[in-house]
Amino acid sequence: MLSLRMTNFLNLSTALKKQTVLFLGFLNKKKYPFYFFIIAIFFVAYAFALNKIKSHKELKENNFNSFLKSNEFNNIKEFIFENIKSPYKEYSYTVESNDTLEKVLKKYNIDSADINNLISEIMKKKLTNISPGAPIQIVTKEEKGIKKIISLFYPIDAITSVEVKRNKDIFDVSKIILELSRKEIVLSNTIKNNLYSSAIEVGIEPNIIVEFANIFGFEVDFQRDIRTGDTFEIYYEQYVDDENVVRNTGKIIYASMFVNNKDLSLYNFKYNNNQGYYDVDGKSVIKTLMKTPINGARLSSSFGMRKHPILGYNKLHQGTDFAASKGTPIMASGSGVILRAQVYKGYGNYVSIKHNSTYVTAYGHMSKFGRGIKKGVRVNQGKIIGYVGSTGMSTGPHLHYEVLKNGKRINSQRMKLPSGKILNNEARNKFEVDRIKIDVKLAQLRKN
Ligand SMILES: [Zn+2]
Repeated sequence: MLSLRMTNFLNLSTALKKQTVLFLGFLNKKKYPFYFFIIAIFFVAYAFALNKIKSHKELKENNFNSFLKSNEFNNIKEFIFENIKSPYKEYSYTVESNDTLEKVLKKYNIDSADINNLISEIMKKKLTNISPGAPIQIVTKEEKGIKKIISLFYPIDAITSVEVKRNKDIFDVSKIILELSRKEIVLSNTIKNNLYSSAIEVGIEPNIIVEFANIFGFEVDFQRDIRTGDTFEIYYEQYVDDENVVRNTGKIIYASMFVNNKDLSLYNFKYNNNQGYYDVDGKSVIKTLMKTPINGARLSSSFGMRKHPILGYNKLHQGTDFAASKGTPIMASGSGVILRAQVYKGYGNYVSIKHNSTYVTAYGHMSKFGRGIKKGVRVNQGKIIGYVGSTGMSTGPHLHYEVLKNGKRINSQRMKLPSGKILNNEARNKFEVDRIKIDVKLAQLRKN
């Protein structure tokens, strides 16, 4: 979608250039009164734009760009166009929800017979799908008061666009598919402020960053463990068009981090249709319990002695608090069965999960429970069991998280997490072969 917007914007600037050219030609031919006429048009358009911007007062500066790309701005552009006597007009329109191609074309006073003719041609090829946000480029020509379509261009998905061109009174409809080719890339960086900005800096796509954080989520607490100077490397798939523009991304093949003074490398491995990430020893990255069962939270109070914020005296804090805004989803830190989902003592709305014969996790102060969360229900790791709140004995929205090992509360941030599965036998042999192949490829790609 980003690239689509980009195209829209580029086309828009081309259109603006065309206008300038038209204006210059016009100035050479006409005399003084027309200068005033043109200045007046500009002034009106400028005042109109200014007024529009003022009406967007609540929007911040960066929204000005989206205003430039908006339909309102296109209307202003058209307004300027209307006053230049060219039979050709170019429109850029951004699809809104509930728009159909027909509805969009009707906004421009185009001859209805022409619209019907065009739509039926497009329908024959089943290419009428347009989705909100997609840019549509329309060029029209007006002759004897009748406005007809000259060309039309719009995307129907990330790689397919439709181009319609008028050929006398017939419309040629063609489907343009971007030929995408798979490419492997290795990118790395040193972390300055945070992982996200350091990854963006070297051109890693946001969805790859999210995927990377998920893969490492069991090993690394992104809120606490990351220090300036830590490094990461990601080897992943990109899909590029014939101009080498990245249109899509694929899977992460390998990823590594140097954090907490140790190197951690993870390899994508598929066996019997099960795909996962494993360390050099063939150990699955997925742990039975997560350290932080919430995204984007800040650890606000750790396990240990502290002055209780409400009771006021020193008391052992038998859990870990994560500050987060009300309504932030809380995940089951491991798979298991719900023991409690109820108001419970000072915990307020409380959920506890039994994972196995050893481990139980508990979550307090929720604003509400997740959908279908009640006693006896089985949940998978990552399932939303509730939302951050401040119910019970609490001074502000946060999650109070406890891990109980054999009934005793332990420090979840220090515990050695019980591991998931380790590959062995045939799977392990295949993993070793695949891992060496990845290492060889990695060494080659690093040199590029
Ligand atoms: Zn607490």
